[in-house]
Amino acid sequence: MNGWVQRDEAVVWHGFTQMACYADNAPVIVERGEGRELIAVDGTRYLDAISSLWVTTLGHRVPELDQAVRDQLDRIAHSTLLGNGNRVTIELAEALAAVVPVDDPHFLFASDGAAAVEQALRIALQFWANTGQPGRTTYLAFDGAYHGDTIGALSVGDGGFGTTVYDPLRFPVLRAPIGDVEAASRIIAEHCGTLAAVVIEPLVQGAAGMVLVEPAFVRAVAAACAEHDVLLVCDEVATGFGRTGTLFALEQCQVRPDILCIGKGLTGGYLPMAATVASRRVYDAFLGADLSERTLYHGHSYSGNALAAAVAVRHLQLIEEWDVLANVRARADQLQGLLAAHVVDHPAVREVRQHGLMVGVELHACPEGRRLGRLVSAECVRRGVLIRPLGDVIVLMPMLTSTVAEIERIVETVSGAIEAVCR
Ligand SMILES: *Cc1c(COP(=O)(O)O)cnc(C)c1O
Repeated sequence: MNGWVQRDEAVVWHGFTQMACYADNAPVIVERGEGRELIAVDGTRYLDAISSLWVTTLGHRVPELDQAVRDQLDRIAHSTLLGNGNRVTIELAEALAAVVPVDDPHFLFASDGAAAVEQALRIALQFWANTGQPGRTTYLAFDGAYHGDTIGALSVGDGGFGTTVYDPLRFPVLRAPIGDVEAASRIIAEHCGTLAAVVIEPLVQGAAGMVLVEPAFVRAVAAACAEHDVLLVCDEVATGFGRTGTLFALEQCQVRPDILCIGKGLTGGYLPMAATVASRRVYDAFLGADLSERTLYHGHSYSGNALAAAVAVRHLQLIEEWDVLANVRARADQLQGLLAAHVVDHPAVREVRQHGLMVGVELHACPEGRRLGRLVSAECVRRGVLIRPLGDVIVLMPMLTSTVAEIERIVETVSGAIEAVCR
């Protein structure tokens, strides 16, 4: 052994990971990256089929993105956005404003998706306080929802992942089954006097195991919100920046929310940056006298970080220049065909769910309590394709620039691993 796992275990606490058996589960210790591959300290190469937990879009060490960070380093790495501005952050907000599905948007930057959601919840509540309805303090969220791991984000999220221990910290929210237009519309109508906002992941509930959400459902929820004057918060932290074949999933729903949360792919997977995007109507409700109560008293130290903004600007340009969305759609079609041919009909497979380059291969729960998702993923890693499951669901999140051969390799590896483990 090279000792890196032991050194890691001695000082690093890994999230969502039982540290008592961390070292026994053959963790990959990454030293470098190259395109869609990760290179471990022992030199082994892995195809990164989960895009480093859904954040990497174009690849690791993309020369153009690396250069954008270097160029910005020669100007400044960071300066605060509280009360002052930064040139590259302005340029990023301008570039984003042209493409986000939000009317006349303003951007409140943060560092993680959870913080962007947290900000959205705060903005929604204060929007109503500022407009004379201080009783609008609750939220409607959906079964299976995941919005991040801070307390507010956990509260609108639907639990699972061993987070029930935090239930005493969660504030209560209303909850509806995802996909049930009638139930959602009824709750919105009945509770519109106390609802601040409805929070939804459009098209795909990622962490739920790639649960697909019909565009018509998102549209119906948006319509109910508009009818009863409840704010609509859309969480595109996972679906944003091309994952579903359009830059934002909301384009396929033809919905423009009051508040949008973006994160993960915003910097192409380079640096932690997220943003809460407010429509003009929401933003305007916070305007008032200097230091007045209408101000949004919320912010984070690294909000609008210049290095992250610089890479995000270049990332948006490259998505255009390289016609990345066309590749997403072509590779998604290819992936769907290969999964249908080699995976869907396997007796161990319960269901395959896919939208764009977001895929969940759900395995049948094992009667003997074997953790099949875990075992199949470990087998994929042994075969050189890095995968991390969500329970019984094998998650495939290939990078948006994946090649034909890489998609073939992923499916071949997954079907081989399922065969090997579930025989
Ligand atoms: C990952 C995710 C979040 C949380 O983002 P972090 O950057 O991990 O805090 C929120 N919402 C959705 C839909 C996500 O997939």
